[in-house]
This record gives sequence, structure tokens and C-alpha cells, in this order.
Amino acid sequence: MSTIGFVGLGNMGGPMAGNLVEAGHEVKVFDLVPDLVAGVAGAAGQPSAGACAEGVDFFISMLPAGRHVEGLYLGADGVLEHCGPQTLLVDCSTIDPVTSRKVAAAAQEKGLSMLDAPVSGGTAGAQGGSLTFIVGGTSEALGKARPLLDVMGSNIFHAGDNGAGQVAKICNNMLLAILMAGTAEALALGVNSGLDPSVLSEIMKQSSGGNWALNVYNPYPGVMENAPASRDYAGGFLVDLMTKDLGLAMETADASQSSVPLGALAKNLYRVHQQLHDAGRLDFSSIQWLFKPDLKP
Ligand code: NAD
Repeated sequence: MSTIGFVGLGNMGGPMAGNLVEAGHEVKVFDLVPDLVAGVAGAAGQPSAGACAEGVDFFISMLPAGRHVEGLYLGADGVLEHCGPQTLLVDCSTIDPVTSRKVAAAAQEKGLSMLDAPVSGGTAGAQGGSLTFIVGGTSEALGKARPLLDVMGSNIFHAGDNGAGQVAKICNNMLLAILMAGTAEALALGVNSGLDPSVLSEIMKQSSGGNWALNVYNPYPGVMENAPASRDYAGGFLVDLMTKDLGLAMETADASQSSVPLGALAKNLYRVHQQLHDAGRLDFSSIQWLFKPDLKP
């Protein structure tokens, strides 16, 4: 069993840390919100992130954005000042690859290995220990971290060197945003032209327009019983997070001089939807409202 420091105990990090405790690891936890620290049963709450990093085999972070990750590791009294040489650092936050590489390089200068390991699978995956980890870093570091990632997830992909996990995650989410918006647009066109959304969905699913949204996450209310669309778009993957990830895609495109016209359009569609419909806390499939405003209650 390992000793683990875990910082960032929000919707994702809290249950991930809880699964590590349940698997028998000795887990030290910290969050800026004291109630979240107390909420991880069986873990040892710490007064600071630095205290979490002292003497552990692994240090894991799950924070909102790049500025939080940079502050945590490189800021005044940052985690890198507290880790011993044995500690492997694993950042599971979804952040920009530039910050991810910068923090990993600073860790390396101190002789520490670091992985970026953003996740897919949402809060249900975090609770059920069935996340997908998309990892950047060395094979050796991933080999060491694998037993822990296996506790929190069921799929582990090695995307490449440091930052590659973030790039792969960002590419995937940009594609997801585009195909969800396209699916919502096609469904609205069909319904406005007299078709039943369930019938149209079944036809497109079996035809060349078939995609993940139609298969498991239909954006039109009532078509798929277990999809967020059929529970007023509650839960799932928030519009706020999708717009954040699309912003990361735009930054990554700039940094690599890539043209991403469809990603840019998707980002603007999600931004309009977020503001026009006050939809930030709704599931991202609620983009359906932009194409079919009469669905909005
Ligand atoms: P969250 O806002 O619920 O949790 C983040 C936590 O980090 C908060 O509790 C906050 O207090 C804490 N925090 C911030 N700065 C800190 C610091 N310096 N020290 C200690 N604690 C600090 O966010 P979340 O939904 O858990 O998401 C975390 C990351 O996972 C994000 O990067 C997000 O994009 C990614 N992600 C989320 C989902 C999802 O469905 N929620 C899915 C995949 C990936």
C-alpha cells in the first residue's frame, strides 16, 4: 500500500480520493474548502497542500484550471518545495498543455517525475472508479502510477510525453462539442420538418451520421431515458466545463498554429447558449435549445 497526498476534493477529486482510501491506501487530503476535507471518510485531513506533499509516495492534484495548478506546484510555499525525491506527481486536472509542461519541467529540475493524467468519465466515473485516464509523461512514471490509476479508473491511455495527455483530452472534447452541436442541429431540422425525434435518431444512428451522441447521449428530450436531456439536462458534463475545454482547444490551436474553424464555431455556440439561456450549470447536450428554443421551459 502507498502513502498518497491528494489536493482538490471537488466533484471529481473527492470521490477519487475516497476510492483510494477504500482500496487501503494511506491518503492525506487538502482543499481550500474545509468541509470537503472533512468529507473524505478515512483520509487524514491536512492544514495545507504542502503538508499533504510531505513524505508521500504519490501526490495527486485535481484542480479547476491551469492557474490553480501552477500556483499549487510553483507558487510561494508550493508543493515542489515539500516533496521528497521519492514522490511521483500526478496532475489529473484538465488544463492547458503549456502550463502542464512548465510544471513538469520545474519538477524535473528538482529530480521529480510528473504525469499529466486528465480524465474522461465525469462524476459518475469518479464515484464508480471507472474513469478513463489520458496520460502524458514517461512510461516508467506511468508504470509506477498505474496501480493507483487502476483503483480510480478502468481505462488508461499513454498519449506521449508531458502535456500529451492534455492535448489528447482537449482534441477529444473539441470533437465531442462539434458532434453534439451537429447532432442537435440535425434533430431540430428533422423535428421542425415533421419527423419524430426518436424515429429520426434511430435512422441516423444506423446510417452514416451515426455517432456517440446518438448512441448514448441523445440531446433531444424523451428520446433516451437515461440521457441528461430526459431529466431537464441536470447533471452530466456542464456547459461551463465544455466552454472551458473549448477555450483550451483554441489556446492549443494558437500554440501549434492549427486552424480549428469548427472548434471555434462550437466554442461560440456554447458561449452564446451559456449566456442566452443561463445554461452554465446544465449538461452540455442542452445546446439543443439553441436550435430548438421552444424546448426551453
Ligand atoms: P470542482 O470545482 O468541483 O473542484 C475543484 C476543487 O479544487 C475545489 O474544491 C476547490 O476548492 C479546489 N481548489 C482549487 N484551488 C485549490 C488549491 N490551490 N488548493 C487546494 N484546493 C484547491 O471541479 P471538478 O468538477 O472536480 O473538476 C476538476 C477538474 O477535472 C477540472 O479541471 C475539470 O475540467 C476536470 N473534469 C471534470 C469533469 C466533471 O464532470 N466534473 C469531468 C472530466 C474532467
